[in-house]
Amino acid sequence: MNRQVKKRVLITGAAGFLGSHLCDRFIAEGMQVIGMDNLITGDLRNIEHLFKLPNFEFYQHDVSEFVHIPGELDYILHFASPASPIDYVRIPIQTLKVGSLGTHNLLGLAKSKQARILVASTSEVYGDPLVSPQPESYWGNVNPVGPRGVYDEAKRFQEAITMAYHNFHGLDTRIVRIFNTYGPRMRLNDGRALPTFIAQALRGEALSVFGDGTQTRSFCYVSDQVEGIYRLLMADYNLPVNIGNPDEMPVIDIAKEIIELTASTSKIIFQGLPVDDPKQRRPDIRLAQELLQWAPLVKRKDGLEKTIAYYRTIPNEKLQQKDF
Ligand code: NAD
Repeated sequence: MNRQVKKRVLITGAAGFLGSHLCDRFIAEGMQVIGMDNLITGDLRNIEHLFKLPNFEFYQHDVSEFVHIPGELDYILHFASPASPIDYVRIPIQTLKVGSLGTHNLLGLAKSKQARILVASTSEVYGDPLVSPQPESYWGNVNPVGPRGVYDEAKRFQEAITMAYHNFHGLDTRIVRIFNTYGPRMRLNDGRALPTFIAQALRGEALSVFGDGTQTRSFCYVSDQVEGIYRLLMADYNLPVNIGNPDEMPVIDIAKEIIELTASTSKIIFQGLPVDDPKQRRPDIRLAQELLQWAPLVKRKDGLEKTIAYYRTIPNEKLQQKDF
């Protein structure tokens, strides 16, 4: 950590939505960025603009297997993991492995390099919360054997092993609990509410709202999320910190807003609520505000407009294919 040369950072999940934006941010900070991804849910198109840069290297590798990086490292950001319910229900064992074995491998790497490591946890550690908004002190309401358990419990294990490395080995660790984040480079068909609604609106299809749409969500624009993560990495604090936007609204209203912003003629249809779908989700961000002087700045309408503009750049045949 004392080298006078450029800082070197390893970012796992680099070809994914958040990982690719983090690569951009650390490159912009003048650091040497090493991206790692096995492309199970990611896409190299998210980082293709970085390949020509001398500050960027990429390793296609599964972090649930042994991870070796030559040379020194200052920071590790562990963002590799399937992150949407349709992904982790489709690949449950890989999801459990990357949160457990993958995290263990990266903690070991951080220890051997004497690097600081930040792991990406999630609001899903709160499960279907019985308190709202959710402060970091809330222990959660998770069904370990439900379909979402593979993700939620892997992330809870990830937090536990990260704290164990901190307490037992004195490792310099950070844990961010990320709440729903959106923006350009989210996969159109990853099953999460915002990309699904935007894709349906752009295709002129009905927007499929689960349940009666009264369940609430709060969405954080990606640039706000990245800023919060960056500040947490640079802060001196080892317990989990929520980063998200407390601007909560019913899912049905989000669907209506997207229809309006895309000027679509789409209708709304209602589908069965998925098992263990949280009824409400809203971060308590007082800790991040005090500790990091951080708060989300991007207004929902502005963030949605930028996201819709990105999805409009996707060629129509890709948009229709539904597998982008
Ligand atoms: P994403 O699916 O877009 O990106 C995840 C990336 O990790 C993909 O590129 C995938 O190929 C890669 N990956 C998965 N397993 C891997 C493995 N074993 N080895 C190497 N690479 C692997 O998802 P995202 O939305 O960018 O999420 C990134 C991280 O943030 C995840 O850890 C997720 O749990 C966390 N998170 C995201 C959100 C959100 O709203 N986007 C919310 C909470 C937590």
